[in-house]
Amino acid sequence: MISLSASKIMIAENYKNILEKVNNAAKVAGRDPKEVTLIAVSKYKPLSDLKEAYDAGARDFGENHVQEMLEKMPEMPSDVRWHMIGHLQRNKVKYIVGKVFLIHSVDSLRLAEEISKEAVKAGVVQDILIEVNVAGEESKWGGNLEETVNLVKEAGKLPGISIKGLMTVAPYTENPEENRKYFSALKHLSVDIEGQNKDNISMGVLSMGMTGDYEVAVSEGATYVRVGTGIFGERDYSSH
Ligand SMILES: *Cc1c(COP(=O)(O)O)cnc(C)c1O
Repeated sequence: MISLSASKIMIAENYKNILEKVNNAAKVAGRDPKEVTLIAVSKYKPLSDLKEAYDAGARDFGENHVQEMLEKMPEMPSDVRWHMIGHLQRNKVKYIVGKVFLIHSVDSLRLAEEISKEAVKAGVVQDILIEVNVAGEESKWGGNLEETVNLVKEAGKLPGISIKGLMTVAPYTENPEENRKYFSALKHLSVDIEGQNKDNISMGVLSMGMTGDYEVAVSEGATYVRVGTGIFGERDYSSH
């Protein structure tokens, strides 16, 4: 008898279910499902879990910690696109520039400058997103809407980086509809910035929506949703 572990079935099923919901949310919003990519957020999860998601079709993986990501990278197939979604310290930038597909969490000019410096040194162009604290939460990274406009403008002048869009982490809520206004605000901001037509800046990418609210985010224009718990189950922080 072929025996699959329970988790294997679950992760594959979860991934496929969520992908289907993402696609449906796009269709309902009159969008092409191909515009939206589901990122499997695998922080704190063992490699075996990532491989199960990969076998179910996942190619985009999100990690929050540089060290953890660097450990997992060589163990996964080379067609995986790695997304740095967590707060990034400047002294860690050199380890990931040119290795990650997209850095979502650029929240200061100093960080953008560091990425630029390391990218130029490595002879690569690093794609980045600017993180926005749309709800103005104390506990969250990223600037407010006005600061974001300035940061995009200044970071856009730097060599070695290419700004692809915006990212936000919305407040935790039981009712995803409460976050619709924040997703909508991020979309509007990206359209405003796009309208200013700066070189080296495009606003096509919107990274927003997590396990609790990804369908609402898709309906408001997300091009990446970052889902961890919904795919892999609850995280165990105790061992870290
Ligand atoms: C952990 C994390 C996620 C995934 O959160 P879930 O609620 O588990 O889906 C998404 N984005 C960021 C920035 C995260 O840190």
